[in-house]
Amino acid sequence: MDKGKLKILVPRADIAIKVQELGRDISDTYRNIEEPVVVVSVLKGSLVFTADLIREINVPVQLETLVASSYGDGSESSGKVRIEYKSFDDLKDRHVLLVDDISDSGRTFQSIAEQLQAYEPASIRFCAFLDKPSRRAVTLKPDFIGFSIPNEFVVGYGLDFAGYYRELPDVAVVIPEE
Ligand code: 5GP
Ligand code: MG
Repeated sequence: MDKGKLKILVPRADIAIKVQELGRDISDTYRNIEEPVVVVSVLKGSLVFTADLIREINVPVQLETLVASSYGDGSESSGKVRIEYKSFDDLKDRHVLLVDDISDSGRTFQSIAEQLQAYEPASIRFCAFLDKPSRRAVTLKPDFIGFSIPNEFVVGYGLDFAGYYRELPDVAVVIPEE
């Protein structure tokens, strides 16, 4: 596969500052709740972000994961969202924070939220490291957003292109080689 050249869009130093800010906002939001916030990390893309984010949250959290895929091996959305998760026993009356790498059409967040409603949580909020507002196709807007970005396909900080680049510490745009 031709991996192309990379143009850095968000450098790692800016990411670190933003993740601290998000941690503070999230902590303020959940300051007065009794039980730990249930952070649900949407794998694989949000693995890196979630690991950094939970260490900037200073209220107790419980960590859960699920796997969602809306993209195949290319950079075009299939338009369908596939979700796989073990059952969550104890979401009833709990405050759930869904964490994803990027909100594009918003369908992933929407589909997951619809499915998790069956567990009767007290609330569901949404945290997206990146947001592409120009692409939104649903009314749901994430409660916490790291960076709003233009409609470009980005990689790094957990985001991949056909399995590559998740380990990059910065967020970058892939420019195809001439
Ligand atoms: P949505 O359901 O909001 O349309 O899409 C969200 C998912 O699409 C994200 O969790 C991510 O997996 C994928 N996605 C959307 N835009 C990009 C992008 O620019 N780069 C990468 N690597 N994945 C993206
Ligand atoms: Mg994803």
